Amino acid sequence: MSLVTIDAQGRLQVPDQVEIPFIEGDGVGPEITAATQRVMGAALQKAYGDRRAIRWKEVLAGEKAFKQTGSWLPEETMEAFRTYKVGIKGPLTTPVGGGIRSLNVALRQQLDLFVCLRPVRWFQGVVSPVKEPQKVDMHIFRENTEDIYAGIEWQAGTPEAAKFLKFLTEEMGVTKIRFPESSSFGVKPVSREGSQRLVRCAIRYALERGLPSVTLVHKGNIMKFTEGGFKNWGYDVAETEFADRTFTTRQYDALKKEKGVEAADQARAQAISEGKVIIKDVIADAFLQNTLLIPEEYSVIATLNLNGDYISDQLAAMVGGIGIAPGANINYNTGHAIFEATHGTAPNIAGQGKVNPCSLLLSGVMMLEYLGWNEAAVLITEAMETSFRQGRATVDLARFMEGGVSLTTDQFADELCRIIRG
Ligand code: NAD
Repeated sequence: MSLVTIDAQGRLQVPDQVEIPFIEGDGVGPEITAATQRVMGAALQKAYGDRRAIRWKEVLAGEKAFKQTGSWLPEETMEAFRTYKVGIKGPLTTPVGGGIRSLNVALRQQLDLFVCLRPVRWFQGVVSPVKEPQKVDMHIFRENTEDIYAGIEWQAGTPEAAKFLKFLTEEMGVTKIRFPESSSFGVKPVSREGSQRLVRCAIRYALERGLPSVTLVHKGNIMKFTEGGFKNWGYDVAETEFADRTFTTRQYDALKKEKGVEAADQARAQAISEGKVIIKDVIADAFLQNTLLIPEEYSVIATLNLNGDYISDQLAAMVGGIGIAPGANINYNTGHAIFEATHGTAPNIAGQGKVNPCSLLLSGVMMLEYLGWNEAAVLITEAMETSFRQGRATVDLARFMEGGVSLTTDQFADELCRIIRG
């Protein structure tokens, strides 16, 4: 049996010889996929000998799929991800004109991959625009299925927009639309279930990894029922389901009101000393400022979709940008997870041996961690640390490093394999 399964307790069961579907990706996809599989193979061999291995199973999506099958996202590909549960993908060209709006969105929706996980850390040697990038070590849990990104919108001037306007003004008594006739409208659903399943996973992740805090990032000061709801429902999850393992800012505030600041401070200090995870919240705009000023205050971040979009890109830029930021879309309840390069197909450098494979490779590292194969994951991150410290990297990073040596994608993958083999 080579399939990943999930047991009655919701734990992932991973066979030692596991089969993993992969989408090669368009543009630079083939180059980063080849490099990633080679480095992962070296790490698995070093960590486990022949005991554990990945058998890669190619499935089609994007341009390659369209050319071979006439479909951008063939049903067999969806079926493979459903069956195999865990997979990895390179970047895909977004089809222009009609058809599927975005292949990534289609995959996320069909498998209900409600967490977009983006870990952000700095590697020594990588040039960063911030003064103390070593203080950046955050894990973003971005909600993937709700919020304005759920895509409920009506364009100005259409009968749908007029109908919605009529409903708002005549039935809901809304009077504050500034330019009603020329407005487009968007609706933002945020549910208790949707918020809580995300925050629950973020708290579990922090507990499993011994991380100090989960911060709920929101705009609840303005959008009280959607963003504010997210915050309150998030606190509710912590206080009901993780009561003995977390301490929330809401509990701190209640204690402060009842017994004074000293008692509240004392309770928080005690919670920290007992290894409890601190659950706090911050308004999104303040958060973005704080990530630059006091990044060490934040560890796991739980946030809605749109905030998460901005936050992911800003944090990625703080540690070296697009070529090095990994990601995954996960449904922790069913076990389904797709690990992915976060950048696009980079057509301007495709086929030239220039692309940095680290985004996909670090997504591979996340995948190994998800499977519980941490030894192999560590070997890869350590090899990257070593290579970057020596200024050896692909050109996008090496050109900014002191004494940097630019390697082609293949040479860089060779370098990592060599370091891993020791
Ligand atoms: P892009 O990420 O492909 O490229 C932006 C810039 O970053 C380019 O200069 C590119 O050369 C550089 N770059 C990207 N990844 C790099 C890497 N690993 N190493 C070195 N340099 C790298 O964004 P784009 O040009 O806006 O999009 C191109 C195509 O990719 C579009 O069709 C878009 O829809 C698609 N796209 C796909 C995904 C995805 O599948 N996840 C994400 C974003 C864009």
